[in-house]
Amino acid sequence: MKTYTETLYDAYGQEFRVDKLYFENKTEHQHLVIFENAKFGRVMALDGIIQTTQADEFIYHEMLSHVPVLAHGKVKHVLIVGGGDGGMLREVCKHKTVEHITQVEIDDQVIDMCKQYLPEHSAGAYDDPRVNIVIDDGAHFVNTTDLRFDVIISDSTDPIGPGGALFTSDFYADCKKCLNPGGILVTQNGVAYMQLDEVVTTNKRLQSHYKDHTFYSAAVPTYIGGIMTFAWGSDDEKARSLPLETVKHRYNAAKIKTRYYNPAIHLASFALPQYILEAIENQTWTD
Ligand code: SAM
Repeated sequence: MKTYTETLYDAYGQEFRVDKLYFENKTEHQHLVIFENAKFGRVMALDGIIQTTQADEFIYHEMLSHVPVLAHGKVKHVLIVGGGDGGMLREVCKHKTVEHITQVEIDDQVIDMCKQYLPEHSAGAYDDPRVNIVIDDGAHFVNTTDLRFDVIISDSTDPIGPGGALFTSDFYADCKKCLNPGGILVTQNGVAYMQLDEVVTTNKRLQSHYKDHTFYSAAVPTYIGGIMTFAWGSDDEKARSLPLETVKHRYNAAKIKTRYYNPAIHLASFALPQYILEAIENQTWTD
């Protein structure tokens, strides 16, 4: 394999030179490939879609973990849905006040191969005594578990294949059922310019279950096409509009090292471009 071309979009895509192929296989659920690229380091893709790279994973993992955890302020129990590369688990484990982390991943081969070929993603987090790994469909888990969480992070693939179940109204309703009072749901919700329909659809689905629902964003280079949106659902409207001083205090108290996240970015990330606001407002989008 000399190059790897992402096939997420019909008329547009990105191509990586494959400097070394580490793993390629069809697992029980999806096609998994891990390769080396001179610019982005080790790259993992599932079903033709880039999932994570050594070079820029910190942006996505820091923003989808520290924003909800520090906004909440008293997180003890966290659920990660998906996240097989281990990067989200690594970032949540940095919070020493978190008492228990459950990660529900559908494909154990993703966990195994990322432990082997992308070890800095999990960086030993799978051995953290607070962590419990469940191999299951995340939609089935939230529908059937009696466990309750303060933050739920849906770190899923795109709504294609097994990931589709994690973008439904039922999934958002079941996550709500699994949240403690004041709990927060955040999800990977696509690159807005390229997948604006996902923003509009998720907004419609969240609004019937969460008093406060919106999006925040960050630009992750290998999620091509501009800012990636993260969906936010909570019944505690205050959690999203904390004063900067409060976020700074919590960040400093957590004593965590970050390379992208900081309190100013935390608050600024909730500011959305006009085209997204209008699409949400009018519940329409143009392809
Ligand atoms: N950062 C990536 C992104 O933004 O697309 C996501 C990375 S992570 C590797 C996505 C994980 O979701 C994969 O490990 C995949 O196996 C898992 N996954 C997909 N559908 C799932 C489901 N229904 N239940 C649990 N895990 C699922």
